[in-house]
Amino acid sequence: MTSPADRAPRPGSRSVASLQNDSVKLIRSLAMRKVRRETGLFVAEGTALIVTARDHGFVPRLLVHGPGAGDSAVARDVIDWAAGAGADCLDVTGPVLAKIAARDNPQSLIAVFEQRWATVPEPARPAGAAPWVALEGVRDPGNLGSIVRTAEAAGAAGVLLAGASCDPFSHEAVRASMGSVFAVPLARMGDAELPALARAWPGTAVGTHLKGRADFRAVAYRAPVLLVMGTEGDGLTAAAAAACGELVRIPMHGRLDSLNLSVATALMLYEIQRNVLRA
Ligand code: SAM
Repeated sequence: MTSPADRAPRPGSRSVASLQNDSVKLIRSLAMRKVRRETGLFVAEGTALIVTARDHGFVPRLLVHGPGAGDSAVARDVIDWAAGAGADCLDVTGPVLAKIAARDNPQSLIAVFEQRWATVPEPARPAGAAPWVALEGVRDPGNLGSIVRTAEAAGAAGVLLAGASCDPFSHEAVRASMGSVFAVPLARMGDAELPALARAWPGTAVGTHLKGRADFRAVAYRAPVLLVMGTEGDGLTAAAAAACGELVRIPMHGRLDSLNLSVATALMLYEIQRNVLRA
């Protein structure tokens, strides 16, 4: 009987049956933020995410596929494209795939990409009318992924991560973004730089605050808007709040003291883009 390790790999791929393989070890180590930071790489799991990456001009450094990948025409197409584009394609056994995958039910395709970081927008030279979302020290990767997804849907120019933020290239954030991490420019800056950016911003710099004076629906936003959101725990810092030309509140009914960060960001973005987005 032929063991999985002996079966012929797909053309363009090499067979891997060992967890000691260097590429397999690299992919597994990318679960750690430290390794993602040092290598500038990240992992995307699942055919749909990898197709989205391809649509946005990303080419994987590594593409791993399991025994079932050849059964799907889309997966076959992705493997052929990745091999043709120069990716190192690994045809791994089921047990190896199960160890690499973050999910219990492993996806048949897993890819490693290079992170892309955009430059911080320059207030003196705004690149267009679309809003930027600035997040102060966002902690929850699920929130961050959802915000990046909403930023794409609402036509934002990009998402700016200020201060000690969670990693948009973690597995959880990438998955929550539904692939928007490949579409939305992501930039980062120190927390001390955000107030200066807000003060110099050419359009409305609006901070969201539970003690904001204005109702978020009552402000005439001037494009390009800089939307500044506070952390999940402590909210907007005093320095960022003081630097924003507008401080708004989203009214709430009942006993809760705040909305979830990604929900508040979505409400704000859709209000800011009210006259731009059409069904
Ligand atoms: N305890 C925090 C505070 O005191 O601000 C709550 C933080 S809230 C979970 C996270 C962020 O979402 C806030 O910093 C703010 O940017 C935004 N946010 C949530 N609910 C809001 C509301 N009703 N009005 C304005 N901003 C809100």
